[in-house]
Amino acid sequence: MNLGTNILLFEIAIKISNGLVQNYFHIQTKGRILFTFVCYFRDMKKHSTKKIESYKPDWTPENAGDEFAVRILKGQDSSSSGSRAVGGKRKDLSVSQYVKGVLGFDRNILARTITLIESNNPAHYKTAQEVLKHLIPFSGKSLRIGITGVPGAGKSTLIESLGMYLIKLGHKIAVLTVDPSSTVTKGSILGDKTRMENLAKEKNCFIRPSPSGGNLGGVTRKSRETITICEAAGFDIILIETVGVGQSEVSVRSMVDFFLLVLIAGAGDELQGIKRGIMELTDAILINKADGDNEKKANIAKSDYNNALHYLQPATAGWRSQAFTGSALTGKGITELWNVIKKFEDNVKQSGVFEQRRKDQSIEWVFRMIENTLHEEFYNDEKVQQAIPILIDEIVNGKITPTLAADKLLGIFKE
Ligand code: GDP
Repeated sequence: MNLGTNILLFEIAIKISNGLVQNYFHIQTKGRILFTFVCYFRDMKKHSTKKIESYKPDWTPENAGDEFAVRILKGQDSSSSGSRAVGGKRKDLSVSQYVKGVLGFDRNILARTITLIESNNPAHYKTAQEVLKHLIPFSGKSLRIGITGVPGAGKSTLIESLGMYLIKLGHKIAVLTVDPSSTVTKGSILGDKTRMENLAKEKNCFIRPSPSGGNLGGVTRKSRETITICEAAGFDIILIETVGVGQSEVSVRSMVDFFLLVLIAGAGDELQGIKRGIMELTDAILINKADGDNEKKANIAKSDYNNALHYLQPATAGWRSQAFTGSALTGKGITELWNVIKKFEDNVKQSGVFEQRRKDQSIEWVFRMIENTLHEEFYNDEKVQQAIPILIDEIVNGKITPTLAADKLLGIFKE
């Protein structure tokens, strides 16, 4: 890897791991430049056969490779009330119209049902829960695959490659994303259809960007419910993409059957935000971009990660997580990756781990939602909001202990 590439990736990893608000704001600022760049590139693609090299964003270090380009695109906008997003000028549908439409694989109604789920309007929430109640009996039959990795690792290219491969095998693919950055920037660095151009054109594929607005808990709930809807519509493989920022990976792990970590050889663990905890969540590691000059480095990385995985607790009981090499760009290793996933599925279904994990995930979901709701209610409570600065002042001036301050705040909340 050249120095310029290091600098670019380092910058991204630090932004992602050092506090979301501050750092994503920074990405957002640059995001404008990137967005302009992408539009420019796409436009140029129509009229020119020139390669992407000519159209690097102006902040890219001189000798950085194209393969580390990061695209930041406008996210799915779900307004706070959700009313426009759900119905627009169209008439709201009845519960049975939503249910029939989803079960009948009506893509328009499918999209409207997901918008209903994503709405923050209490009336929509009620309808959405009614719709879900009717769809749950038809859900659960897919294989849910989580894919994580830092921006630039090649996740969307991989989803495009793997997705096209699976569609040729006769599968129906839904691509969803869990993107906590969207809650801060109201934009998305994941799941935009333009990042998966061929897949987006397939009738057996449905791509849905991360909902924006709300906290990670809210995004997670919406994503989980979207899985239910997509399964009821007949999608048998759900790919859930998330960016490697720690917390969102834990959330995605708790909603998928198989979890894949996508890495780039030679970028270094620190730069890729790899922590032991994240490795312990993964069922396989794909060292992507194992093509051209990079192939040798990718093979070395594969051995290194296999050594590391050997000493870690496996993510799934009875399954040995392993590292593989592949190239999302050339398609090399895609068949092998799918074989690994199929082997995993057979293994966990036979051992009962699959079913048990799904049950555990449903139970965990209930308690995560309770925690999330309590958390929101606590911090939205007016009296709590008034008391917090006063108590903080007392703590820093040594007038009260943190424990007593917490007791007081909880007391105010419960009043
Ligand atoms: P994401 O941010 O993780 O979704 O990464 P992308 O899929 O957008 O890929 C970032 C850049 O890496 C793009 O320019 C891709 O064309 C490039 N890329 C992705 N996969 C490969 C690969 O297997 N080999 C090479 N050489 N480049 C790749």
